[in-house]
Amino acid sequence: MDCVIYFSLPVLRESIYCCMADQAKYKQLLNSLEEAAVMLDRSGKVLHSNPIFRELAGLQKPESAAMTDIFPEIPESWLADSLQAGDVAAFVFQSSRLQSECLVSLIPADGHAILMLWAQPTESGNAVGLNSLSQLPYILPFGLVLIDQHGRIEKANAAARKLLSIPQEKSGDLNQIWSNSRDRANRRRSIDRAPWNRALEQSRSIRMGPVTMGQSVLDLYCIPIRSQNRAQVLVVVQDMHREHRNQKRLRGALELNRSINQLLMDLLRVPGPEDTIHRALRGALELIRADECLLITEEEYGSRVAFVEGERQDLLGRENKVDPWEADPALQKEGAFLIRRMDTLESLLPDVAPHEYRGCLAASVLYEKNRRGLVLLLRKESKFRSRERRILQLLVPALSAAIFKFRYEARLNLLATTDPLTGLLNRRRFFAILESAVKDEPPPSILQMDLDLFKQINDSLGHQAGDRVLEVLAVELKKWEAKGAVPARTGGEEFMVLLRGDLSENYRRIAEDLRQSVEALEIEWQPNPIRFTISIGATRFHPGEKLADFYARADKLLYEAKESGRNKTCFETAQLPGSGNGKSNR
Ligand code: GH3
Ligand code: MG
Ligand code: MG
Repeated sequence: MDCVIYFSLPVLRESIYCCMADQAKYKQLLNSLEEAAVMLDRSGKVLHSNPIFRELAGLQKPESAAMTDIFPEIPESWLADSLQAGDVAAFVFQSSRLQSECLVSLIPADGHAILMLWAQPTESGNAVGLNSLSQLPYILPFGLVLIDQHGRIEKANAAARKLLSIPQEKSGDLNQIWSNSRDRANRRRSIDRAPWNRALEQSRSIRMGPVTMGQSVLDLYCIPIRSQNRAQVLVVVQDMHREHRNQKRLRGALELNRSINQLLMDLLRVPGPEDTIHRALRGALELIRADECLLITEEEYGSRVAFVEGERQDLLGRENKVDPWEADPALQKEGAFLIRRMDTLESLLPDVAPHEYRGCLAASVLYEKNRRGLVLLLRKESKFRSRERRILQLLVPALSAAIFKFRYEARLNLLATTDPLTGLLNRRRFFAILESAVKDEPPPSILQMDLDLFKQINDSLGHQAGDRVLEVLAVELKKWEAKGAVPARTGGEEFMVLLRGDLSENYRRIAEDLRQSVEALEIEWQPNPIRFTISIGATRFHPGEKLADFYARADKLLYEAKESGRNKTCFETAQLPGSGNGKSNR
Protein backbone atom coordinates (compact mmCIF):
# COMPACT_ATOMS: atom_id res chain seq x y z
CA MET A 1 0.00 0.00 0.00
CA ASP A 2 2.73 2.49 0.91
CA CYS A 3 4.03 2.83 -2.66
CA VAL A 4 0.56 3.95 -3.71
CA ILE A 5 -0.05 6.51 -1.00
CA TYR A 6 1.97 9.41 -2.32
CA PHE A 7 0.82 9.38 -5.89
CA SER A 8 -1.55 12.22 -5.38
CA LEU A 9 -4.05 13.55 -2.94
CA PRO A 10 -6.96 12.13 -4.94
CA VAL A 11 -5.29 8.74 -5.03
CA LEU A 12 -4.44 9.10 -1.38
CA ARG A 13 -8.10 9.72 -0.76
CA GLU A 14 -8.95 6.53 -2.63
CA SER A 15 -6.43 4.62 -0.50
CA ILE A 16 -7.96 6.07 2.58
CA TYR A 17 -11.43 5.01 1.46
CA CYS A 18 -10.09 1.48 1.10
CA CYS A 19 -8.47 1.61 4.51
CA MET A 20 -11.44 3.08 6.33
CA ALA A 21 -13.21 -0.22 6.20
CA ASP A 22 -10.52 -1.82 8.25
CA GLN A 23 -9.33 -0.28 11.52
CA ALA A 24 -6.00 -2.07 11.58
CA LYS A 25 -5.34 -0.99 8.01
CA TYR A 26 -5.89 2.73 8.49
CA LYS A 27 -3.71 2.73 11.58
CA GLN A 28 -1.03 1.09 9.50
CA LEU A 29 -1.63 3.69 6.81
CA LEU A 30 -1.26 6.58 9.24
CA ASN A 31 1.89 5.14 10.70
CA SER A 32 3.37 4.74 7.26
CA LEU A 33 2.85 8.41 6.37
CA GLU A 34 5.85 10.66 6.65
CA GLU A 35 3.82 13.60 7.81
CA ALA A 36 1.93 14.24 10.99
CA ALA A 37 -1.50 12.68 10.61
CA VAL A 38 -4.50 11.78 12.70
CA MET A 39 -7.73 9.97 12.16
CA LEU A 40 -10.70 12.02 13.32
CA ASP A 41 -14.23 10.95 14.06
CA ARG A 42 -17.35 12.83 12.89
CA SER A 43 -17.09 15.27 15.75
CA GLY A 44 -13.43 16.11 15.16
CA LYS A 45 -12.04 14.00 18.01
CA VAL A 46 -8.80 12.10 17.52
CA LEU A 47 -9.30 8.38 17.03
CA HIS A 48 -5.75 7.51 16.20
CA SER A 49 -2.54 9.49 15.76
CA ASN A 50 0.79 8.67 14.20
CA PRO A 51 4.11 9.17 16.05
CA ILE A 52 5.01 12.30 14.06
CA PHE A 53 1.75 13.94 15.06
CA ARG A 54 2.28 13.03 18.70
CA GLU A 55 5.72 14.60 18.57
CA LEU A 56 4.41 17.72 16.87
CA ALA A 57 1.47 18.08 19.27
CA GLY A 58 3.72 17.37 22.23
CA LEU A 59 1.20 14.85 23.50
CA GLN A 60 1.81 11.25 24.46
CA LYS A 61 -1.75 10.25 23.84
CA PRO A 62 -3.87 12.70 21.88
CA GLU A 63 -6.53 10.04 21.35
CA SER A 64 -10.06 11.21 22.22
CA ALA A 65 -8.94 14.86 22.51
CA ALA A 66 -10.71 17.33 20.21
CA MET A 67 -8.49 18.46 17.34
CA THR A 68 -9.42 22.07 18.00
CA ASP A 69 -8.20 21.71 21.60
CA ILE A 70 -4.82 20.46 20.45
CA PHE A 71 -4.47 23.24 17.86
CA PRO A 72 -6.88 26.00 18.97
CA GLU A 73 -6.09 28.06 15.85
CA ILE A 74 -8.07 25.61 13.74
CA PRO A 75 -11.62 27.02 13.79
CA GLU A 76 -14.26 24.62 14.99
CA SER A 77 -16.64 25.80 12.29
CA TRP A 78 -14.17 25.07 9.49
CA LEU A 79 -13.51 21.59 10.82
CA ALA A 80 -17.20 20.84 11.32
CA ASP A 81 -18.13 22.12 7.83
CA SER A 82 -15.29 20.26 6.16
CA LEU A 83 -16.12 17.01 7.94
CA GLN A 84 -19.69 17.49 6.78
CA ALA A 85 -18.83 18.40 3.18
CA GLY A 86 -16.93 15.18 2.58
CA ASP A 87 -14.32 16.58 0.21
CA VAL A 88 -10.66 17.43 0.57
CA ALA A 89 -10.21 20.71 2.44
CA ALA A 90 -7.23 22.64 3.68
CA PHE A 91 -6.52 25.40 6.15
CA VAL A 92 -3.46 27.50 6.93
CA PHE A 93 -2.82 28.93 10.38
CA GLN A 94 -0.11 30.32 12.57
CA SER A 95 0.46 27.92 15.43
CA SER A 96 1.53 29.48 18.69
CA ARG A 97 2.51 26.10 20.05
CA LEU A 98 4.84 25.38 17.14
CA GLN A 99 5.70 29.01 16.44
CA SER A 100 5.26 28.14 12.85
CA GLU A 101 2.96 28.47 9.91
CA CYS A 102 1.04 25.26 9.48
CA LEU A 103 -0.99 23.71 6.72
CA VAL A 104 -3.64 21.16 7.57
CA SER A 105 -5.39 19.14 4.95
CA LEU A 106 -8.45 17.12 5.67
CA ILE A 107 -9.46 14.08 3.69
CA PRO A 108 -12.89 12.94 4.81
CA ALA A 109 -14.31 9.55 4.04
CA ASP A 110 -17.29 7.75 5.38
CA GLY A 111 -17.88 9.99 8.36
CA HIS A 112 -14.28 9.74 9.52
CA ALA A 113 -11.47 11.87 8.19
CA ILE A 114 -7.74 11.86 7.99
CA LEU A 115 -6.07 15.10 8.82
CA MET A 116 -2.50 15.77 7.83
CA LEU A 117 -0.44 18.59 9.17
CA TRP A 118 2.68 20.25 7.85
CA ALA A 119 4.61 22.82 9.83
CA GLN A 120 7.55 25.05 8.99
CA PRO A 121 10.66 24.66 11.08
CA THR A 122 10.94 27.28 13.80
CA GLU A 123 13.23 30.27 13.54
CA SER A 124 15.69 28.85 16.03
CA GLY A 125 16.29 26.05 13.58
CA ASN A 126 14.86 23.73 16.11
CA ALA A 127 12.69 21.86 13.72
CA VAL A 128 9.61 20.84 15.63
CA GLY A 129 7.73 20.65 12.40
CA LEU A 130 8.53 18.60 9.43
CA ASN A 131 9.14 20.31 6.19
CA SER A 132 8.22 23.68 4.89
CA LEU A 133 6.06 23.67 1.82
CA SER A 134 9.13 24.22 -0.33
CA GLN A 135 10.71 21.10 1.08
CA LEU A 136 7.67 19.01 0.37
CA PRO A 137 9.01 17.41 -2.82
CA TYR A 138 11.04 15.19 -0.60
CA ILE A 139 7.92 13.68 0.78
CA LEU A 140 5.39 14.35 -1.96
CA PRO A 141 6.33 13.60 -5.55
CA PHE A 142 3.86 16.07 -7.00
CA GLY A 143 3.83 19.85 -7.39
CA LEU A 144 2.21 22.01 -4.75
CA VAL A 145 1.43 25.63 -5.34
CA LEU A 146 -0.17 27.94 -2.83
CA ILE A 147 -1.82 30.94 -4.50
CA ASP A 148 -3.75 33.91 -3.25
CA GLN A 149 -7.20 34.87 -4.53
CA HIS A 150 -5.64 36.79 -7.46
CA GLY A 151 -3.67 33.80 -8.67
CA ARG A 152 -0.31 35.08 -7.36
CA ILE A 153 2.00 32.28 -6.31
CA GLU A 154 2.87 32.58 -2.64
CA LYS A 155 4.70 29.29 -2.31
CA ALA A 156 5.59 26.53 -4.67
CA ASN A 157 7.63 23.46 -4.16
CA ALA A 158 10.46 22.43 -6.46
CA ALA A 159 8.30 19.94 -8.34
CA ALA A 160 5.74 22.64 -9.12
CA ARG A 161 8.39 25.14 -10.21
CA LYS A 162 9.78 22.60 -12.60
CA LEU A 163 6.42 21.59 -14.03
CA LEU A 164 5.20 25.16 -14.45
CA SER A 165 8.63 26.57 -15.42
CA ILE A 166 8.61 29.13 -12.61
CA PRO A 167 12.10 30.46 -11.93
CA GLN A 168 13.30 30.10 -8.35
CA GLU A 169 13.54 33.82 -7.58
CA LYS A 170 10.24 34.86 -9.21
CA SER A 171 7.03 34.20 -7.45
CA GLY A 172 4.92 34.21 -10.64
CA ASP A 173 1.24 34.29 -11.34
CA LEU A 174 -0.78 31.21 -12.07
CA ASN A 175 -3.43 33.14 -14.01
CA GLN A 176 -0.66 34.43 -16.26
CA ILE A 177 0.77 30.99 -16.83
CA TRP A 178 -2.72 29.78 -17.68
CA SER A 179 -3.21 32.53 -20.25
CA ASN A 180 0.24 32.14 -21.78
CA SER A 181 0.10 28.41 -22.13
CA ARG A 182 -0.09 26.89 -25.56
CA ASP A 183 -3.28 25.09 -24.77
CA ARG A 184 -5.87 26.63 -27.02
CA ALA A 185 -8.63 25.43 -24.75
CA ASN A 186 -7.21 27.52 -21.91
CA ARG A 187 -7.11 30.61 -24.06
CA ARG A 188 -10.71 30.15 -25.05
CA ARG A 189 -11.69 29.89 -21.43
CA SER A 190 -11.72 33.09 -19.48
CA ILE A 191 -9.52 33.37 -16.41
CA ASP A 192 -12.40 32.93 -14.03
CA ARG A 193 -12.97 29.49 -15.63
CA ALA A 194 -9.52 28.44 -14.37
CA PRO A 195 -10.07 25.65 -11.87
CA TRP A 196 -8.56 27.49 -8.89
CA ASN A 197 -10.84 30.43 -9.45
CA ARG A 198 -13.83 28.14 -9.69
CA ALA A 199 -12.68 26.35 -6.52
CA LEU A 200 -12.61 29.69 -4.68
CA GLU A 201 -15.93 30.76 -6.09
CA GLN A 202 -17.68 27.49 -5.30
CA SER A 203 -15.78 26.74 -2.06
CA ARG A 204 -15.07 23.18 -3.08
CA SER A 205 -12.18 21.21 -4.51
CA ILE A 206 -12.03 21.02 -8.25
CA ARG A 207 -10.13 18.61 -10.39
CA MET A 208 -9.22 19.25 -13.99
CA GLY A 209 -6.96 17.73 -16.57
CA PRO A 210 -5.21 17.08 -18.77
CA VAL A 211 -4.30 20.74 -19.17
CA THR A 212 -1.24 22.09 -20.92
CA MET A 213 0.50 24.66 -18.73
CA GLY A 214 4.10 25.79 -18.96
CA GLN A 215 5.79 22.99 -20.86
CA SER A 216 3.79 20.22 -19.25
CA VAL A 217 0.58 18.32 -19.59
CA LEU A 218 -0.90 18.46 -16.15
CA ASP A 219 -3.61 17.17 -13.96
CA LEU A 220 -4.76 19.90 -11.56
CA TYR A 221 -6.41 19.51 -8.22
CA CYS A 222 -7.44 22.76 -6.57
CA ILE A 223 -8.28 22.87 -2.89
CA PRO A 224 -9.67 26.15 -1.55
CA ILE A 225 -8.04 27.05 1.71
CA ARG A 226 -9.84 29.00 4.33
CA SER A 227 -7.53 30.83 6.58
CA GLN A 228 -8.08 33.30 9.36
CA ASN A 229 -8.13 36.40 7.20
CA ARG A 230 -7.88 35.63 3.51
CA ALA A 231 -8.62 33.13 0.76
CA GLN A 232 -6.02 30.93 -0.81
CA VAL A 233 -5.96 27.85 -3.03
CA LEU A 234 -3.66 24.89 -2.76
CA VAL A 235 -3.10 23.66 -6.30
CA VAL A 236 -1.77 20.16 -6.63
CA VAL A 237 -0.16 19.76 -10.04
CA GLN A 238 0.71 16.43 -11.42
CA ASP A 239 2.56 15.48 -14.52
CA MET A 240 0.28 13.28 -16.60
CA HIS A 241 3.23 11.36 -17.97
CA ARG A 242 4.38 10.74 -14.49
CA GLU A 243 0.87 9.77 -13.52
CA HIS A 244 0.98 7.29 -16.37
CA ARG A 245 4.18 5.82 -14.97
CA ASN A 246 2.56 5.68 -11.57
CA GLN A 247 -0.38 3.85 -13.07
CA LYS A 248 2.07 1.30 -14.39
CA ARG A 249 3.58 0.96 -10.94
CA LEU A 250 0.13 0.60 -9.50
CA ARG A 251 -0.64 -2.14 -12.01
CA GLY A 252 2.65 -3.81 -11.09
CA ALA A 253 1.71 -3.61 -7.41
CA LEU A 254 -1.70 -5.17 -8.11
CA GLU A 255 -0.06 -7.89 -10.18
CA LEU A 256 2.29 -8.65 -7.30
CA ASN A 257 -0.60 -8.70 -4.89
CA ARG A 258 -2.33 -11.26 -7.07
CA SER A 259 0.77 -13.46 -7.20
CA ILE A 260 1.12 -13.36 -3.44
CA ASN A 261 -2.55 -14.27 -2.95
CA GLN A 262 -2.11 -17.12 -5.38
CA LEU A 263 0.88 -18.34 -3.41
CA LEU A 264 -1.07 -18.18 -0.15
CA MET A 265 -3.92 -20.17 -1.71
CA ASP A 266 -1.44 -22.77 -2.95
CA LEU A 267 0.12 -23.06 0.49
CA LEU A 268 -3.27 -23.89 1.95
CA ARG A 269 -3.83 -26.60 -0.64
CA VAL A 270 -0.41 -28.28 -0.68
CA PRO A 271 -0.84 -31.52 1.28
CA GLY A 272 2.57 -32.59 2.62
CA PRO A 273 4.46 -30.54 5.20
CA GLU A 274 7.68 -30.57 3.18
CA ASP A 275 5.87 -29.61 -0.02
CA THR A 276 4.43 -26.58 1.77
CA ILE A 277 7.89 -25.23 2.48
CA HIS A 278 9.13 -26.05 -0.99
CA ARG A 279 6.16 -24.22 -2.49
CA ALA A 280 6.75 -21.18 -0.28
CA LEU A 281 10.45 -21.04 -1.07
CA ARG A 282 9.80 -21.55 -4.78
CA GLY A 283 7.26 -18.72 -4.66
CA ALA A 284 9.87 -16.39 -3.16
CA LEU A 285 12.47 -17.54 -5.69
CA GLU A 286 10.19 -16.85 -8.64
CA LEU A 287 8.71 -13.57 -7.46
CA ILE A 288 12.10 -12.13 -6.61
CA ARG A 289 13.99 -13.84 -9.42
CA ALA A 290 16.82 -15.31 -7.42
CA ASP A 291 19.05 -18.31 -8.15
CA GLU A 292 18.79 -19.95 -4.76
CA CYS A 293 16.35 -19.85 -1.90
CA LEU A 294 17.37 -21.59 1.33
CA LEU A 295 15.77 -22.04 4.68
CA ILE A 296 18.21 -22.05 7.57
CA THR A 297 16.83 -23.12 10.93
CA GLU A 298 18.07 -22.29 14.38
CA GLU A 299 19.41 -25.31 16.23
CA GLU A 300 20.98 -25.82 19.66
CA TYR A 301 24.47 -25.93 18.16
CA GLY A 302 24.00 -23.05 15.73
CA SER A 303 22.15 -23.46 12.47
CA ARG A 304 21.30 -25.92 9.72
CA VAL A 305 20.34 -25.60 6.08
CA ALA A 306 16.96 -27.32 6.26
CA PHE A 307 15.59 -26.69 2.75
CA VAL A 308 17.06 -25.69 -0.58
CA GLU A 309 15.13 -24.51 -3.60
CA GLY A 310 17.41 -23.99 -6.58
CA GLU A 311 20.66 -25.51 -7.82
CA ARG A 312 22.65 -25.79 -4.60
CA GLN A 313 21.16 -29.01 -3.28
CA ASP A 314 24.67 -29.81 -1.99
CA LEU A 315 24.08 -27.27 0.80
CA LEU A 316 21.15 -29.25 2.17
CA GLY A 317 21.67 -30.42 5.74
CA ARG A 318 24.87 -28.39 6.24
CA GLU A 319 25.37 -27.51 9.85
CA ASN A 320 27.10 -24.42 11.05
CA LYS A 321 28.25 -23.37 14.50
CA VAL A 322 27.50 -19.72 13.76
CA ASP A 323 24.21 -18.48 15.10
CA PRO A 324 22.93 -16.69 11.98
CA TRP A 325 21.11 -14.13 14.09
CA GLU A 326 24.41 -13.07 15.56
CA ALA A 327 26.01 -12.64 12.14
CA ASP A 328 24.06 -9.45 11.47
CA PRO A 329 22.21 -7.51 14.19
CA ALA A 330 19.55 -6.48 11.65
CA LEU A 331 18.38 -10.07 11.52
CA GLN A 332 17.29 -10.02 15.15
CA LYS A 333 13.99 -8.48 14.13
CA GLU A 334 11.43 -10.32 12.08
CA GLY A 335 11.40 -9.05 8.51
CA ALA A 336 13.30 -8.86 5.25
CA PHE A 337 16.76 -7.35 4.95
CA LEU A 338 19.24 -6.63 2.21
CA ILE A 339 22.56 -8.15 3.14
CA ARG A 340 25.05 -5.72 1.73
CA ARG A 341 28.27 -7.15 3.12
CA MET A 342 28.89 -10.45 1.46
CA ASP A 343 31.26 -11.54 4.24
CA THR A 344 28.12 -11.91 6.38
CA LEU A 345 27.04 -14.55 3.88
CA GLU A 346 30.35 -16.29 4.34
CA SER A 347 29.72 -16.72 8.04
CA LEU A 348 26.16 -17.93 7.40
CA LEU A 349 27.10 -20.38 4.66
CA PRO A 350 30.80 -21.26 4.92
CA ASP A 351 30.49 -23.53 1.88
CA VAL A 352 29.56 -20.69 -0.43
CA ALA A 353 32.41 -18.61 -1.80
CA PRO A 354 31.47 -14.95 -1.25
CA HIS A 355 32.25 -13.94 -4.85
CA GLU A 356 29.93 -16.64 -6.16
CA TYR A 357 26.88 -14.45 -5.61
CA ARG A 358 26.41 -10.73 -6.00
CA GLY A 359 23.08 -10.36 -4.26
CA CYS A 360 21.91 -11.63 -0.92
CA LEU A 361 18.51 -11.00 0.60
CA ALA A 362 17.41 -12.44 3.93
CA ALA A 363 14.14 -12.77 5.77
CA SER A 364 14.15 -13.54 9.44
CA VAL A 365 11.01 -15.52 10.18
CA LEU A 366 9.56 -16.29 13.57
CA TYR A 367 7.40 -19.36 13.21
CA GLU A 368 6.87 -20.45 16.77
CA LYS A 369 7.56 -18.79 20.06
CA ASN A 370 11.30 -18.18 20.04
CA ARG A 371 11.92 -20.43 17.05
CA ARG A 372 13.52 -18.70 14.17
CA GLY A 373 14.19 -19.49 10.57
CA LEU A 374 16.20 -17.54 8.07
CA VAL A 375 15.18 -17.49 4.43
CA LEU A 376 18.14 -16.60 2.24
CA LEU A 377 17.85 -15.60 -1.39
CA LEU A 378 21.00 -15.57 -3.48
CA ARG A 379 21.53 -14.16 -6.95
CA LYS A 380 24.57 -14.44 -9.17
CA GLU A 381 23.84 -11.78 -11.74
CA SER A 382 23.10 -8.68 -9.70
CA LYS A 383 22.48 -7.24 -6.27
CA PHE A 384 18.98 -7.11 -4.89
CA ARG A 385 17.17 -3.80 -4.68
CA SER A 386 14.95 -2.41 -2.00
CA ARG A 387 11.89 -3.15 -4.17
CA GLU A 388 12.79 -6.81 -3.97
CA ARG A 389 13.29 -6.50 -0.25
CA ARG A 390 9.77 -5.14 0.01
CA ILE A 391 8.40 -8.08 -1.95
CA LEU A 392 10.14 -10.48 0.43
CA GLN A 393 8.75 -8.50 3.34
CA LEU A 394 5.26 -9.15 1.97
CA LEU A 395 6.08 -12.85 1.85
CA VAL A 396 7.25 -13.10 5.45
CA PRO A 397 3.81 -14.06 6.85
CA ALA A 398 3.40 -16.72 4.16
CA LEU A 399 6.85 -18.14 4.86
CA SER A 400 6.22 -18.12 8.56
CA ALA A 401 2.90 -19.94 8.09
CA ALA A 402 4.51 -22.52 5.82
CA ILE A 403 7.27 -23.29 8.32
CA PHE A 404 4.76 -23.43 11.13
CA LYS A 405 2.61 -25.89 9.19
CA PHE A 406 5.69 -28.00 8.48
CA ARG A 407 6.78 -28.06 12.12
CA TYR A 408 3.28 -28.79 13.33
CA GLU A 409 2.82 -31.72 11.01
CA ALA A 410 6.32 -32.98 11.77
CA ARG A 411 5.38 -32.94 15.46
CA LEU A 412 2.15 -34.82 14.79
CA ASN A 413 4.19 -37.31 12.83
CA LEU A 414 6.62 -37.67 15.71
CA LEU A 415 3.77 -38.31 18.13
CA ALA A 416 2.39 -40.98 15.83
CA THR A 417 5.70 -42.78 15.43
CA THR A 418 7.40 -42.61 18.82
CA ASP A 419 6.81 -44.05 22.22
CA PRO A 420 6.28 -41.22 24.71
CA LEU A 421 7.91 -42.92 27.73
CA THR A 422 11.22 -43.86 26.11
CA GLY A 423 11.34 -41.65 23.02
CA LEU A 424 12.11 -44.74 20.95
CA LEU A 425 10.26 -45.59 17.73
CA ASN A 426 6.96 -47.34 18.29
CA ARG A 427 5.99 -50.74 16.94
CA ARG A 428 4.10 -49.39 13.92
CA ARG A 429 6.96 -47.27 12.72
CA PHE A 430 9.52 -49.98 13.45
CA PHE A 431 7.71 -52.55 11.31
CA ALA A 432 7.31 -50.02 8.51
CA ILE A 433 11.08 -49.55 8.50
CA LEU A 434 11.68 -53.27 8.81
CA GLU A 435 9.49 -53.90 5.79
CA SER A 436 11.74 -51.84 3.58
CA ALA A 437 14.94 -53.01 5.32
CA VAL A 438 14.41 -56.64 4.27
CA LYS A 439 15.14 -55.53 0.70
CA ASP A 440 18.64 -54.47 1.82
CA GLU A 441 21.76 -56.08 0.49
CA PRO A 442 23.43 -57.35 2.71
CA PRO A 443 20.28 -58.51 4.53
CA PRO A 444 19.41 -56.98 7.91
CA SER A 445 19.30 -58.60 11.34
CA ILE A 446 16.97 -58.10 14.26
CA LEU A 447 17.37 -58.48 18.00
CA GLN A 448 14.13 -59.30 19.75
CA MET A 449 14.42 -58.62 23.47
CA ASP A 450 12.31 -58.79 26.60
CA LEU A 451 12.99 -57.71 30.15
CA ASP A 452 13.48 -60.60 32.54
CA LEU A 453 11.02 -60.99 35.41
CA PHE A 454 9.91 -57.44 34.94
CA LYS A 455 6.64 -58.10 36.68
CA GLN A 456 8.60 -58.73 39.89
CA ILE A 457 10.19 -55.30 39.67
CA ASN A 458 6.77 -53.72 39.28
CA ASP A 459 5.28 -55.82 42.05
CA SER A 460 8.04 -55.33 44.58
CA LEU A 461 9.17 -51.75 43.88
CA GLY A 462 6.16 -50.23 42.18
CA HIS A 463 5.27 -49.14 38.67
CA GLN A 464 7.49 -46.06 38.87
CA ALA A 465 10.53 -48.23 39.33
CA GLY A 466 9.40 -50.33 36.38
CA ASP A 467 9.08 -47.22 34.23
CA ARG A 468 12.54 -46.10 35.27
CA VAL A 469 13.95 -49.45 34.15
CA LEU A 470 12.29 -49.01 30.75
CA GLU A 471 13.80 -45.55 30.41
CA VAL A 472 17.28 -46.68 31.40
CA LEU A 473 17.14 -49.56 28.96
CA ALA A 474 16.08 -47.08 26.22
CA VAL A 475 19.12 -44.92 27.00
CA GLU A 476 21.33 -47.98 26.54
CA LEU A 477 19.63 -48.76 23.21
CA LYS A 478 20.05 -45.19 22.03
CA LYS A 479 23.82 -45.62 22.31
CA TRP A 480 23.44 -48.15 19.52
CA GLU A 481 21.10 -45.88 17.68
CA ALA A 482 23.94 -43.37 17.53
CA LYS A 483 26.03 -46.02 15.81
CA GLY A 484 23.36 -46.65 13.16
CA ALA A 485 21.12 -49.28 14.76
CA VAL A 486 17.32 -48.76 14.80
CA PRO A 487 15.92 -49.57 18.24
CA ALA A 488 12.19 -49.51 19.06
CA ARG A 489 9.82 -50.28 21.91
CA THR A 490 7.57 -52.83 20.29
CA GLY A 491 5.51 -53.74 23.35
CA GLY A 492 5.19 -53.13 27.11
CA GLU A 493 8.57 -54.49 28.11
CA GLU A 494 9.58 -55.74 24.67
CA PHE A 495 12.11 -54.05 22.49
CA MET A 496 13.57 -54.69 19.06
CA VAL A 497 16.70 -53.49 17.33
CA LEU A 498 17.15 -53.49 13.57
CA LEU A 499 20.72 -53.78 12.34
CA ARG A 500 21.49 -52.89 8.74
CA GLY A 501 24.60 -52.90 6.58
CA ASP A 502 27.86 -53.60 8.40
CA LEU A 503 26.07 -53.73 11.74
CA SER A 504 23.97 -56.60 10.45
CA GLU A 505 27.06 -58.78 9.84
CA ASN A 506 27.99 -58.41 13.52
CA TYR A 507 24.56 -58.96 14.99
CA ARG A 508 25.66 -61.74 17.34
CA ARG A 509 28.44 -59.72 18.90
CA ILE A 510 26.19 -56.66 19.17
CA ALA A 511 23.39 -58.68 20.82
CA GLU A 512 25.79 -60.14 23.33
CA ASP A 513 27.42 -56.74 24.02
CA LEU A 514 24.03 -55.28 24.63
CA ARG A 515 22.97 -58.06 26.98
CA GLN A 516 26.18 -57.68 28.98
CA SER A 517 26.01 -53.91 29.19
CA VAL A 518 22.42 -54.13 30.48
CA GLU A 519 23.47 -56.69 33.05
CA ALA A 520 26.10 -54.27 34.33
CA LEU A 521 23.65 -51.38 34.74
CA GLU A 522 22.64 -50.17 38.17
CA ILE A 523 19.77 -47.77 38.78
CA GLU A 524 19.87 -45.68 41.91
CA TRP A 525 16.78 -46.45 43.98
CA GLN A 526 15.69 -46.52 47.61
CA PRO A 527 16.35 -48.62 49.61
CA ASN A 528 18.50 -50.59 47.15
CA PRO A 529 19.77 -49.96 43.63
CA ILE A 530 17.88 -51.82 40.88
CA ARG A 531 19.61 -54.25 38.60
CA PHE A 532 17.88 -55.98 35.73
CA THR A 533 18.58 -58.23 32.77
CA ILE A 534 17.21 -58.91 29.30
CA SER A 535 16.85 -61.96 27.14
CA ILE A 536 17.52 -61.67 23.42
CA GLY A 537 16.61 -63.64 20.34
CA ALA A 538 18.84 -62.57 17.48
CA THR A 539 18.60 -63.58 13.86
CA ARG A 540 19.43 -62.52 10.34
CA PHE A 541 17.02 -62.23 7.45
CA HIS A 542 17.10 -65.08 4.94
CA PRO A 543 16.63 -63.43 1.54
CA GLY A 544 13.35 -64.53 0.01
CA GLU A 545 11.61 -65.48 3.26
CA LYS A 546 8.45 -63.80 4.52
CA LEU A 547 8.73 -60.99 7.00
CA ALA A 548 6.42 -62.90 9.35
CA ASP A 549 8.76 -65.92 9.31
CA PHE A 550 11.75 -63.72 10.05
CA TYR A 551 9.97 -62.16 12.98
CA ALA A 552 8.60 -65.50 14.23
CA ARG A 553 12.12 -66.93 14.27
CA ALA A 554 13.36 -64.05 16.42
CA ASP A 555 10.44 -64.60 18.77
CA LYS A 556 11.17 -68.30 19.01
CA LEU A 557 14.83 -67.60 19.83
CA LEU A 558 13.76 -65.18 22.54
CA TYR A 559 11.51 -67.86 23.99
CA GLU A 560 14.46 -70.23 23.99
CA ALA A 561 16.55 -67.68 25.85
CA LYS A 562 13.85 -67.39 28.49
CA GLU A 563 13.46 -71.14 28.71
CA SER A 564 17.15 -71.66 29.25
CA GLY A 565 17.24 -69.47 32.31
CA ARG A 566 16.93 -65.81 31.10
CA ASN A 567 19.70 -63.21 30.72
CA LYS A 568 20.75 -65.09 27.59
CA THR A 569 21.27 -64.38 23.91
CA CYS A 570 20.05 -67.04 21.51
CA PHE A 571 21.07 -67.30 17.86
CA GLU A 572 20.08 -69.66 15.10
CA THR A 573 21.77 -73.00 15.57
CA ALA A 574 22.04 -73.58 11.85
CA GLN A 575 24.06 -70.45 11.46
CA LEU A 576 26.47 -71.28 14.21
CA PRO A 577 28.24 -74.41 13.18
CA GLY A 578 30.15 -75.90 16.09
CA SER A 579 28.61 -73.65 18.68
CA GLY A 580 26.66 -76.41 20.40
CA ASN A 581 23.22 -75.32 21.51
CA GLY A 582 23.51 -71.98 19.74
CA LYS A 583 23.11 -70.09 22.92
CA SER A 584 25.66 -67.55 23.83
CA ASN A 585 28.20 -68.32 26.45
CA ARG A 586 27.79 -66.54 29.65
P1 GH3 B 1 9.60 -62.78 31.76
O1 GH3 B 1 11.01 -62.80 32.23
O2 GH3 B 1 9.04 -64.11 31.51
O3 GH3 B 1 9.42 -61.89 30.60
O4 GH3 B 1 8.77 -62.22 32.97
P2 GH3 B 1 8.09 -60.83 33.08
O5 GH3 B 1 7.63 -60.59 34.47
O6 GH3 B 1 8.98 -59.81 32.50
O7 GH3 B 1 6.87 -61.02 32.09
P3 GH3 B 1 5.35 -60.77 32.25
O8 GH3 B 1 4.77 -60.81 30.84
O9 GH3 B 1 4.76 -61.68 33.27
O10 GH3 B 1 5.18 -59.29 32.79
C1 GH3 B 1 5.43 -58.17 32.03
C2 GH3 B 1 5.11 -56.99 32.86
O11 GH3 B 1 5.50 -55.79 32.25
C3 GH3 B 1 3.65 -56.87 33.14
C4 GH3 B 1 3.35 -55.41 32.99
O12 GH3 B 1 2.75 -54.87 34.12
C5 GH3 B 1 4.69 -54.80 32.83
N1 GH3 B 1 4.65 -53.63 31.98
C6 GH3 B 1 4.29 -53.56 30.70
N2 GH3 B 1 4.38 -52.26 30.26
C7 GH3 B 1 4.80 -51.54 31.32
C8 GH3 B 1 5.07 -50.14 31.52
O13 GH3 B 1 4.93 -49.30 30.61
N3 GH3 B 1 5.52 -49.73 32.72
C9 GH3 B 1 5.67 -50.62 33.75
N4 GH3 B 1 6.12 -50.17 34.90
N5 GH3 B 1 5.40 -51.91 33.58
C10 GH3 B 1 4.97 -52.39 32.41
MG1 MG C 1 6.96 -59.83 27.74
MG1 MG D 1 9.45 -59.95 30.50
